[in-house]
Amino acid sequence: MPKKERLCPECRGIVKSGKTELVYELSDIKITVKNVTANVCSKCGQSFVSGRVAEDVNRLVNRITEDLNSFIKTQPHIGEGHKEIAIAV
Ligand SMILES: [Zn+2]
Repeated sequence: MPKKERLCPECRGIVKSGKTELVYELSDIKITVKNVTANVCSKCGQSFVSGRVAEDVNRLVNRITEDLNSFIKTQPHIGEGHKEIAIAV
C-alpha cells in the first residue's frame, strides 16, 4: 500500500514525521514541552501535532501545574517573577 504523502496547507511542502516543541503560557509561568512527536513541513518548518499527542501533552502540563505549587515551595529562589520550565517528552 503506497504511503499517502501529506502536504503542508501553508506552502504545499512535504510534511514528514519529526519532533517539535509546544509552549504553554500560563498566568505566571511558561512551560516548554520539547521533543513532541509531530509532523513537520520540510519546506517551511510548520509543525502539526495530532489530536492524540496534543491530549497527552495537555494532560502532562496539567499535572505539572498541579504539582507546581508544592514544587515552588521547595525552590524559593524561583518563587518570584516569571518562571520558565522546559520539559522533554
Ligand atoms: Zn510548509
